[in-house]
Parts: sequence; structure tokens; C-alpha cells
Amino acid sequence: MKKEFAVIGLGRFGGSICRELSLEGMQVLAIDNDEDKVNEYKNIASHAVIADSTDEASLKELGIKNIDHVIVAIGDNIQASILTTVILTDLGIKKITVKAQNDYHEKILNKIGADHVVHPERDMGKRIAHNIISNNILDYLELSDDHSIVEVKAGKKMLGKTLVDLDIRANYGCNVVAIKQGKEINVSPSAEDVLSEEDVLIVIGSDKDISRFEKQLV
Ligand code: ATP
Ligand code: ATP
Ligand code: CA
Repeated sequence: MKKEFAVIGLGRFGGSICRELSLEGMQVLAIDNDEDKVNEYKNIASHAVIADSTDEASLKELGIKNIDHVIVAIGDNIQASILTTVILTDLGIKKITVKAQNDYHEKILNKIGADHVVHPERDMGKRIAHNIISNNILDYLELSDDHSIVEVKAGKKMLGKTLVDLDIRANYGCNVVAIKQGKEINVSPSAEDVLSEEDVLIVIGSDKDISRFEKQLV
């Protein structure tokens, strides 16, 4: 059976999720308490309805219980976001993803049982900042408060060298876990492989070590 989604809050973030899920052929119920927003998504989502998600009865009436995955994308109104999430967890929704506005909001959402809390403005800011440090840094993924993974193009200082030559582990405390060459990905890179211009390294380490690696080698 096809998975059903609901997106609550059709701002830029929720709207983009709704549009993308619909483009991928998913069943999406779009919900907002603003009529104009709902009208905007009438022809995009499978269903678009006006409702206040902080009203439990309205959500029940919409059959929200039958939805597999609900995305709460109410940003500025933290109170409405929290209340909506509590109602959804009480109703036993299988999967709830919520957008957090700040770190405190995120903490509360985790405590009240959101399965997945996202923080798009913060995370995109981090990714772009790392890309600004060097055009060779393609992506950046936070693993924990102090560990990350970065995806970097082999920079000038790396070309023609092997992992042994660069001695990344000893010099920077980071590990190269994979090397991508076009569509190929080598998940057990050899210490003797010579790096070339097309290579993309996937590097894991503490933020402090990665920062040194980014500044000195990328
Ligand atoms: P953006 O993603 O554009 O940055 P935002 O994070 O700033 O948006 P808001 O604009 O505050 O978030 O809210 C997103 C949407 O959520 C708005 O369209 C708003 O009408 C809707 N919304 C807010 N409260 C509720 C509610 N109680 N029930 C349903 N929808 C709501
Ligand atoms: P977010 O990234 O949180 O969604 P936003 O895209 O909704 O933010 P705003 O909150 O409107 O953007 O603006 C971001 C910041 O830019 C605010 O801190 C605001 O004070 C600042 N700002 C707005 N206009 C100017 C200006 N003309 N000069 C300097 N700073 C400005
Ligand atoms: Ca916003």
C-alpha cells in the first residue's frame, strides 16, 4: 500500500516538502489555517484543507490517524508547533517530523516525542558556510555536537599524492572513509591510491580536526 503523508504549515519550507512529495507521486494531505496558502496547494497536493492543527477535533475529522507520516512545518508560532506535535503523538501517529525554530524548541520537540526534528535554516547555514570556506567543500553533515562528515574535492595540495603521502590521519586526526570517482565509490580506499582531480574524499572527524584539515589541505 502507498504511504500517505500530511504536511501541516505551507510556508516556504512546508510548501517545498509538499510540492516535492507530490512531484514524486506521493499522496499528500496539505494543511494550513490560512485560506490563501491552502488555495495555492489545491492543484499540487492530493488534498488541501483549511484547518487549525492545534484543534484536536479538526485533525481527527481529517482522518489524520490514517496518515503514515506527518510533517509539522509551522515555524514562527512555536506554541502552535508544540501543541500540534503533542496532539499528533497522543493520536499515535507512526512518524512525526517537525521543523524547529531554535535549539530550545528542538529540545522540547524531542522530549514530547517527535521522531525527527529538523532545523533547516541552521543546517543549511552551516553547509553554505563550509562551502564558502572553500569551493572544494561540497557537503557537510553533522554527526553529533562535535563530530562531522565532509565531502571534499581533492584540492591542489592533494593531487598526485597518496593517503600515505598526505598522512591525513596522523596530521589531522581525520579518517578518509571513502573516495568517489564519478559514479564509482570506493568504500575502502587504499593508502597507496594516487589522488586525481576528479576525486571526492569523504572525511570523518571531530569538528576541530576537520576545521584544520579544511583550512590547510582543501
Ligand atoms: P517558512 O518555511 O516560510 O520560513 P516559517 O518557518 O517562517 O515559514 P510560518 O510562516 O510561521 O513558518 O508558518 C508556516 C505556515 O504554518 C504558515 O503558512 C501558517 O499559516 C501555518 N500555520 C501556523 N499556525 C498554524 C496552525 N495552528 N494550524 C495550521 N497551520 C498553521
Ligand atoms: P530566517 O532565516 O530566520 O527565516 P528570514 O529569511 O525570515 O530569516 P528576516 O528575519 O526577515 O529573514 O531577516 C533576517 C535578518 O536580517 C534579521 O535579523 C533582520 O534584522 C536583518 N535585516 C533585515 N533587513 C536588514 C537591513 N536592511 N540591514 C541589515 N539587516 C537587516
Ligand atoms: Ca522563516
